[in-house]
Amino acid sequence: MKRVAVFPGSFDPITKGHEEIVRRAASMFDEIIVAVGRNTSKAYLFSEEQRLSWVRDTFADVSHVRVEFFEGLTIDFCKKNEAHFILRGARNSADFEYEMAIAHMNKAMWQEVETIVLFSDPLYISTSSTIIREIIKNKGPVSQFLPNRVNVYG
Ligand code: ADP
Repeated sequence: MKRVAVFPGSFDPITKGHEEIVRRAASMFDEIIVAVGRNTSKAYLFSEEQRLSWVRDTFADVSHVRVEFFEGLTIDFCKKNEAHFILRGARNSADFEYEMAIAHMNKAMWQEVETIVLFSDPLYISTSSTIIREIIKNKGPVSQFLPNRVNVYG
């Protein structure tokens, strides 16, 4: 069986922290699908096309990383793509508690899925899309937190 993992997130915008998780997991799976959320009730800073395009640029050099939009339940997206793994990252105890709760709920809804959580690289433990968005709104310098191919100021 092909080992396919889904890495779901908002990626508003993608950060070096996200990038590092996917690159580290790349050797563990035959394919990773980075699933860029399009949730109509969520107010994103960047459009869905922009978020997806930055994620695609970031992983253009990794042939078994695919980037898709997704909406609805993560497990439904996993079933549709025959993916039995959900990949997530954890920076701290708050992330850990949150990820554990989602993992338990997803497992309860679909027994055939396993969530794999990788601990953040210590370098990126404070890197957060939420904080980066605030800096961007104030035109601050963010390139150090973003993948090399992502330039939010165009
Ligand atoms: P969501 O809206 O689902 O939280 P995010 O784009 O914020 O989407 O995050 C997607 C995943 O990446 C989550 O598991 C989150 O904990 C993880 N993540 C976010 N930032 C980092 C980071 N700096 N290091 C490691 N994992 C991270």
